[in-house]
Amino acid sequence: MIFYSTNKKSTPASLKKATLEGLATDGGLYVPSDIPRFSTDEIELLKEAPFNHIAFAIAKKFNEGEISDDSLWEVVENCFTFKTPLVGLEKSTYVEELFHGPTLAFKDYGARFLAHLTGYFAKEDHTLITVLVATSGDTGSAVAYGFKGVPNTRVVLLYPSGKVSRLQEQQLTTVGGNVTALEVSGDFDDCQRLVKQAFMDAELKQRLALTSANSINISRLIPQTFYYAWGSLQLAARHPGKKAVFSVPSGNYGNLTGGVLAKMMGFPINHFIAGSNANDSVTRYLEEGRYEPNPTVATLSSAMDVGNPSNFARLRHFYGDDYRAMAADISGYAVTDNETIETIGAVYDRFGYIMDPHTAVGFRALEKFRATNEIFDDPAAVMSTAHPAKFIEAIKKALDMEITIPDRLQEVLDRRKVSIPMSTNYRDLAAFLMKL
Ligand SMILES: *Cc1c(COP(=O)(O)O)cnc(C)c1O
Repeated sequence: MIFYSTNKKSTPASLKKATLEGLATDGGLYVPSDIPRFSTDEIELLKEAPFNHIAFAIAKKFNEGEISDDSLWEVVENCFTFKTPLVGLEKSTYVEELFHGPTLAFKDYGARFLAHLTGYFAKEDHTLITVLVATSGDTGSAVAYGFKGVPNTRVVLLYPSGKVSRLQEQQLTTVGGNVTALEVSGDFDDCQRLVKQAFMDAELKQRLALTSANSINISRLIPQTFYYAWGSLQLAARHPGKKAVFSVPSGNYGNLTGGVLAKMMGFPINHFIAGSNANDSVTRYLEEGRYEPNPTVATLSSAMDVGNPSNFARLRHFYGDDYRAMAADISGYAVTDNETIETIGAVYDRFGYIMDPHTAVGFRALEKFRATNEIFDDPAAVMSTAHPAKFIEAIKKALDMEITIPDRLQEVLDRRKVSIPMSTNYRDLAAFLMKL
């Protein structure tokens, strides 16, 4: 498969090049030259298939010979070692839990696939690749755990000292092994600037074989189609003759873009609902056809606080820049913090199910959609993007109760933090990296 940049100015790339580069040289996002399709026969064959078989079948279509089938299967098997439960709340309402990976959030799917593919390519080239990431929290931990123990790779994380939550800091600083955490005496913008400077430093970039692993990498997007494909087939089996509706709590719109790709590939999906918080630039676009990004505002569903989502460029591309086509597939609803809290409470009262604030935005958006679209009696799944225990404060506020922390999380909280202090001066970072 060949990948093009959404800006159409840089040369097309192989899966390997697109994966190791992340962002295209013209600043655009990589997209596949055409969207692989599954015939009805192929879909029929995958109907009862386990998750990893479906993941492999999709990955193979994006690969086209660059990686042997055996190696690709190994990548898939190494990535998805955890379950993706589809939990029924009522007759045709489900929650697809995407939070059973190592950092208890859906970003594990993308980060792990990217990590194992990068490791494969590095091994092929007999190199050691260094992943350099600036993080304000969740992305960094998914990357750190994704690359943990992957041969031929190492990770250097930069995070702003005192500006991430305790849980996030523990997740960033206790991985060990091939993961190093640098605690920067500045803010997130300083971290981003330092990383940018490192990538512009040709000598350093070459010597360390630097790569970025950021959230727009095509190899983080591809695995985000797997759980839509799998989920839609599960729902089709439980509701014969119906197609799935997915409600997706969205921030940078990478998760939703994965779903759109799965639908375009031919999986039985009818419609998408994009739930946003107060950062509603895409929601407004879906209503009005005009894209006017606003500055980011802080909300309870903080991982969705993105004023100008970068995957919007990809969504636009996949719909041929046709607003009506996009709005025919996706309905957008904005959800306030009050509604989010209310929803966590209402869902618990009705179903005894505890949702994190992001998932609650997805649930509330689905309710808003159903209130005005009676024709849709298809089974719907809310994509649950994080474990509620990661957002204890919001849960306390909504339910007035303490929730049990899963063992995996408690273990991370109990470990000893190991970080290396770093100034905001680029020379210090360069000197450190050169000695690494
Ligand atoms: C990243 C994240 C989101 C938003 O996903 P996008 O792909 O950026 O739209 C939603 N919920 C949680 C918990 C996240 O970490």
